Amino acid sequence: MKRRRKRLRVDRILYCLGILIVLVYLIILGISAIINYNIFKSVKTDNILKTNRTKLKVWTKTINYINENVDEIILRHDGYDIKLNGNYIKNHINLDLNKYTTKLNKGSFKNQKGLYIKKNEILDEAINIKLKMPYYLRKNNEVDIYGIKDDSYTLYKGKVKIKDKYISFDTSDEYDDYFITYIPLTSINTKTTLTCYVGDELDINFKFIPSNATNKSITYKASNDLLEINGSKIIAKKKGTVVLTIKNTKNNISTDIKITIKKKEKPKEVIKEDEKTYEVVNRDGIYYVEDIMIVNKTYSLPAEYNPGGLSDEFMDAFYQMQSAAELDGIELWVQSGYRSYYTQEIIYNNYVSMDGVESADTYSARPGYSEHQSGLAADINNPDESFNGTAAAEWLKNNCYKYGFIIRFPEGKEAYTGYIYESWHVRYVGKEWARKITESGKSLEEYFGITSVYQ
Ligand SMILES: [Zn+2]
Repeated sequence: MKRRRKRLRVDRILYCLGILIVLVYLIILGISAIINYNIFKSVKTDNILKTNRTKLKVWTKTINYINENVDEIILRHDGYDIKLNGNYIKNHINLDLNKYTTKLNKGSFKNQKGLYIKKNEILDEAINIKLKMPYYLRKNNEVDIYGIKDDSYTLYKGKVKIKDKYISFDTSDEYDDYFITYIPLTSINTKTTLTCYVGDELDINFKFIPSNATNKSITYKASNDLLEINGSKIIAKKKGTVVLTIKNTKNNISTDIKITIKKKEKPKEVIKEDEKTYEVVNRDGIYYVEDIMIVNKTYSLPAEYNPGGLSDEFMDAFYQMQSAAELDGIELWVQSGYRSYYTQEIIYNNYVSMDGVESADTYSARPGYSEHQSGLAADINNPDESFNGTAAAEWLKNNCYKYGFIIRFPEGKEAYTGYIYESWHVRYVGKEWARKITESGKSLEEYFGITSVYQ
């Protein structure tokens, strides 16, 4: 009897306990449902949840990127932005971007492995994004970020350092998607011999293979003291022969040039003022002067003209210039390269709606009238007045002609070019013309005696 009653009591206690557990569970579920409802209700109003909570649960598998602003971190979760303060969350998320890995076989890419980040999928309006690099990229310590627009790929940021497995970069309105990759350098091609005179600055042409290799840093080393090497500048000092080694340490690649320096005074070139008049010719709707494509306010490109990105000659010359600048401690990159007619239309109309036609025309080209459509012009580093006078701008101004570029809209030449000074906008015209135009101190329009005025 006693035993049975005891068992009954135990059963009842267990029964009550069970109900209690279920009730507590339901209450917790209810509370969390209310909390979640509130979270997502607030999210739905401005798409951003602001919170100081550090223990917010984060569904790691569906978070694609961090939008980092000063000490605020915004996590994207299933289309919602969750804004958090503090570092806590940083240590609790693991971005798995392997699913964006792809092999690209397009343009200059030959089965190139990398991350393809689609704006409409995960970037949206992120200003700065931070991405965790998968191992195959991480092992190189640096990556290239290509901006993609209208099926053209522009090197947006080169040699971006990977820090603690992550890279972070500012997004650009210019591009829809991004391709993040590392391309190893396999060789540096140069002439094997070169002859020059004492006092000459050496004009060394080299080509990187592949030209879009990520790390194209080089160093110069001479076998004796016949050469004076100062950053990117190499001067022949004494008569004799010397071997110049160009080396890329990252990929352990080097090439030698045997240089013969002659004593004989170099016959002085007679530079006479060119009085020649140049003729503008139209071939297939495109205007040229002496085989230089002309795009300005007078001479426009057809809407359908699309070289598919910056031209190879532009890029090869740019890569040489970039490596030379690096030797002088200057970092150069293409901020904005090729733009289609339709992209320019959007940009221009946007400026017009902000500033009006008259003002917009002084700094932005109408569609068809932008040199960016030619694939021969680009904005370097920072297309903004704040770039004027910086060390990089000065270097560009003093050295770009050596690689075939001109500063297209020089200071004080607005009357000729139709544009305000743009220290960042370079145009490829080839070494010979670049030297002639630069030495003349004239703008392109002045040099060839052509106009740049909207009809
Ligand atoms: Zn530009």
